[in-house]
Amino acid sequence: MQRKGFSSGFRSLVVGVNTKVPLENGKHVTAINFDNAATTPPFVSVMREINKFAPWYSSIHRGTGYKSQLSSDIYEDSRKEVLDFVKADADYYTVIYVKNTTEAINKLSYRLYHNLKKGVILSTQMEHHSNDLPWRDKYCVRYLHTDRLGRISLKDLERKLRKYRGRVKLVALTGVSNVTGYINPIYQAAALAHKYKARILVDGAQLVPHCPVEMKQVGSPENIDFLVFSAHKMYAPFGVGVIIGPKKYFKKGGPEYMGGGTVKLVTLNKVIWDDAPHKEEAGTVNLMGVVALLAAMRTIKNIGIDQINRFERSLTDYALEKMRRIPDLKIYGDAENTGDKVGIIPFNIKGIPHQVVAQVLSQEGGIAVRNGCFCAQPYIQKLLCLSRNDIKRYIKDTQMLRPGMVRISFGLYNHFSEIDTLENMLRYIVENKE
Ligand code: PLP
Repeated sequence: MQRKGFSSGFRSLVVGVNTKVPLENGKHVTAINFDNAATTPPFVSVMREINKFAPWYSSIHRGTGYKSQLSSDIYEDSRKEVLDFVKADADYYTVIYVKNTTEAINKLSYRLYHNLKKGVILSTQMEHHSNDLPWRDKYCVRYLHTDRLGRISLKDLERKLRKYRGRVKLVALTGVSNVTGYINPIYQAAALAHKYKARILVDGAQLVPHCPVEMKQVGSPENIDFLVFSAHKMYAPFGVGVIIGPKKYFKKGGPEYMGGGTVKLVTLNKVIWDDAPHKEEAGTVNLMGVVALLAAMRTIKNIGIDQINRFERSLTDYALEKMRRIPDLKIYGDAENTGDKVGIIPFNIKGIPHQVVAQVLSQEGGIAVRNGCFCAQPYIQKLLCLSRNDIKRYIKDTQMLRPGMVRISFGLYNHFSEIDTLENMLRYIVENKE
């Protein structure tokens, strides 16, 4: 297995890699975090920047003091840097800060109602609930199905665009699945969506931290209309999410949340709303979150997203090679052709509930993973080949052990030796099952 070319250099970039955690037997071991698809630890550079900025931290937009003006400038200028990070045209797009990807998509679902209400939203069976439920609530949603290995196909996309010709207003597609790690062909999907006069929204929560992303030239077939992502999955805590979308879509209508910062003028009987992005960011904003995001983006840029992608891919190939050889361990999705995957591997061990595997990994190995359905229940139901009757039983009996999987997901600071530890623990679990 090719491991050359990657030192442990990335390891020192994040906070907490040497933290010791207690095991069930009372011993302490260095924690291994294979749950990066949920949240990543902060970059050292992010924490440094937060500390550096803290003395200057102040209320933005409405203060006249030096610190307030500096804070306002940093906050407003950050939008250009976000656009630059994904090569988006600053004249055409706006950046709106929210809490996370979930809030971003809910906001879009609210904001785009004027444009989409009479149409169909084309989503997929592999979406995180956050890119599914906000659409179901208000619109007619249709889904692309996934195949045996959990992939969607462009053929199916075109078939459905043709079937609902003229009615599909938006294709809401994840850039990367948070379950199988598949990287979806977003540019080809965009070209197809545009061919049928639909827009495309890319859920970038798992894409932006691991793969190069470009919005592409406005007006070109491959142009991405809307992109959303979360800072906490790209080494920047403090709770910021990002919406990037065309300014024109945020012109019409009042905001979802009303209050300070959203208006140009208020009298007792009249309100004139401000323009986006301010109209969409009610109340005091999360400046520290934005400072953290900026620092994280700069660090990712300095390392190079291609380099990150290559390294994480080599971790994934290394892990897959080891896991494929463990008896009774089933990997979901495609474990052979991994060219279109990021470092996410879902699996189960035959005869052992996913809850137990996750618990043993944590309590006896200090290894953090995730288990369950990863907020993508329809996708898990498909990957586990659950029948309608199985699903009916789970709906009826909420006390039953839920079906699910164990998921490991890599960050740029993980290391091959941690995968060796995981392999040993998995073998230990398999060998000791009753
Ligand atoms: N979309 C995908 C693909 C995700 O993986 C996640 C979180 O895991 C989300 C959306 C929701 O992100 P957040 O919890 O930051 O809102």
